[in-house]
Amino acid sequence: MNQNIDFDSVSPNRTSSIMPEESVIKSSFLRALLVLLQASGAQLEEQSQLLLLSFDGFRWDYVNRVPTPNFRALMDEGVQVEHVENTYITKTYPNHYTLVTGLHAETHGIVANEMYDRIHNRSFSMDGPEVYNSWWWEEAVPLWVTNQKAGRKSGAAMWPGSDVAIGGFHPTHFLSYNASVPFETRVAQLIDWFLGPDAINFGMLYWEEPDESGHNLGPESPLMDVVIADIDEKLGFLRDKLKSTGLYEKVNLIVTSDHGMTQLSHDKIIELDTYVSRDLYTWIDKSPVVGILPKEGKLEEVYSSLKNANPNMVVYKKEEIPDHYHYKHNLRIMPLIVEVKEGWTVMQNRNESFMLGNHGYNNSLPSMHPVFVARGPAFRRDYTKAFMRSVDLYPLMCSILGLKPLPNNGSLSSVQDLLVETSTPMPLVPPIPREPSYAWAVGSLLGAALVIGFLLMFVQQVTQRQLRPMHLSNSEITQPLL
Ligand SMILES: [Zn+2]
Repeated sequence: MNQNIDFDSVSPNRTSSIMPEESVIKSSFLRALLVLLQASGAQLEEQSQLLLLSFDGFRWDYVNRVPTPNFRALMDEGVQVEHVENTYITKTYPNHYTLVTGLHAETHGIVANEMYDRIHNRSFSMDGPEVYNSWWWEEAVPLWVTNQKAGRKSGAAMWPGSDVAIGGFHPTHFLSYNASVPFETRVAQLIDWFLGPDAINFGMLYWEEPDESGHNLGPESPLMDVVIADIDEKLGFLRDKLKSTGLYEKVNLIVTSDHGMTQLSHDKIIELDTYVSRDLYTWIDKSPVVGILPKEGKLEEVYSSLKNANPNMVVYKKEEIPDHYHYKHNLRIMPLIVEVKEGWTVMQNRNESFMLGNHGYNNSLPSMHPVFVARGPAFRRDYTKAFMRSVDLYPLMCSILGLKPLPNNGSLSSVQDLLVETSTPMPLVPPIPREPSYAWAVGSLLGAALVIGFLLMFVQQVTQRQLRPMHLSNSEITQPLL
């Protein structure tokens, strides 16, 4: 862009006493024109840039388990939050949507990884085609849509929901979900989007690990050390790429996750078939929080069968779910939910598939909390905060991007201390389009006006020069034209 222009080459300091008058006038004109063009370009560059990265299932304390020099570097250069309380239920889809909406699951509508809508008789599953039905997602507006409505550009590499046209909007650039696309390819694509002609100011990057290994190995397995070290190396790859492309000091980088992980045991399995016939209900979603849809007229029977069945399991009627769960006011939440204690697994019978690690448990449990580190021009340096809620991230990101947040469950004042004092630009109200073509059009119009002005003044100067004595000093002519 305009940063390649050598502004000093037309500085009046270099021209004031030795250049002929015509050259001085031309130089002054060029200087003024460049100031204008540079100003229009600077408007674009002033847009805060933000990259939100989620390593799925990266528990908050994984960074303490093996050497993680790249996470440490971000903490030294920026901020760390030790405990982020995510939203109930601590599953992947609900929490990734919370991060970009600032809403609890009951409000944004993605209440589980697997959902059933009784009114419309539709089923949502992470692996099924309904995930691309925007209807499921449109109880909320994600940040990338708000960013684009303000005239900005967004880019998403595999972020859950980002390849769905929510409210008619895909991200400006996005990759359709494909788990086989390597992390490095996703990074390269995002960096291209930040630097390309249709440049983004907000990027989202998703990586499936260490969640997958955490499920398969269990988080306490020594083999997880290698997985965590590999994630740190991936973060190092991203840092190197940002540095080599000149983005590292410009982009605000947030590295977080959707949830943690806890160790399971074959000794801690609750079989629902032991307590109630599966003919009486439909089972929705998976352990450790399961939706129970009783058959017509069977709610009380199922409820009473399960209520005191097992000390490691709690059953709630929907209206009895504690308010602080923020998990009640949505049709997609079933009339009964079963919640098991940390480390326990609920299934209909033990022949079903079993994992050594899982998440989804109560969001008050430390083991469910994700990592959070961030650095960049908007963030303080070497600052540690004890606690935040994941719903607070949305107003924080809106503040960094200079966007007016939509109504949300978060609080900017709760996390304002993570930011340097000058990092809160005025929100865009109403949205101001800042298309590059628009800025250049303004620059061009101003340039044309200058050319006309210059010609008029040039004619005037030449005319005056012919009339006045030759001893007039150059310094008078080199006064700014504007
Ligand atoms: Zn996850």
